[in-house]
Amino acid sequence: MTPNREDYLKLIFELSGENRLVSNKQILANINVSGASVSEMISKLAKEGLACHTPYQGVQLTERGWTLASSLIRKHRLWEVFLMNNLKYSWENIHEEAELLEHATSNTLADKLSLFLNHPEVCPHGGVIPKNNETISEKTTTILADCKVETTIQILRVLDADPLLLKSLKNIEIILNEKYVIQEKNEERTVLLQEKNQQKITIPHRITNAIFIKTLM
Ligand SMILES: [Zn+2]
Repeated sequence: MTPNREDYLKLIFELSGENRLVSNKQILANINVSGASVSEMISKLAKEGLACHTPYQGVQLTERGWTLASSLIRKHRLWEVFLMNNLKYSWENIHEEAELLEHATSNTLADKLSLFLNHPEVCPHGGVIPKNNETISEKTTTILADCKVETTIQILRVLDADPLLLKSLKNIEIILNEKYVIQEKNEERTVLLQEKNQQKITIPHRITNAIFIKTLM
């Protein structure tokens, strides 16, 4: 499926965190399209006043882009919580349904849903749920791909952008908030050792761009 402009807005939101600047390379690492398509979409967003692009530095959402992305992400993630907690969907299957629902959700419905769910702060993938009319960014943007061997890490969130990615993460049995030691790392894979039970998991290199962590040691 070709990502549309809203997918880009959400991806930039998810990658940018507090400094709000994302490189084309970061976007490219997490989206299954060519570099030319990424550049083309970024110019389109810039023309529409949703993002601005600084050569050699990266792309940043404008206030308007940020508001639009926040609103979509808020609706998406509230539905994810609802689908998982109330309808017993599994972790890797909530994204696709939420993707459809977010477009059919008014701000009033989102507010009522948030109240019904007791105002959750994060989605089941660890992503922050923006409050209505409040500017908020993802708390952690350090990716597993940037960490060195022997570091102890805690996995805080995974990218909320691609159903196939979530399915592979589920198969690898990644557990959020769990502590791991990076045991091995090369261009093909990263091996993590779960601290609690010494269980090993192997993660294909590409996916390590989509796993956000906190380093502990
Ligand atoms: Zn999510």
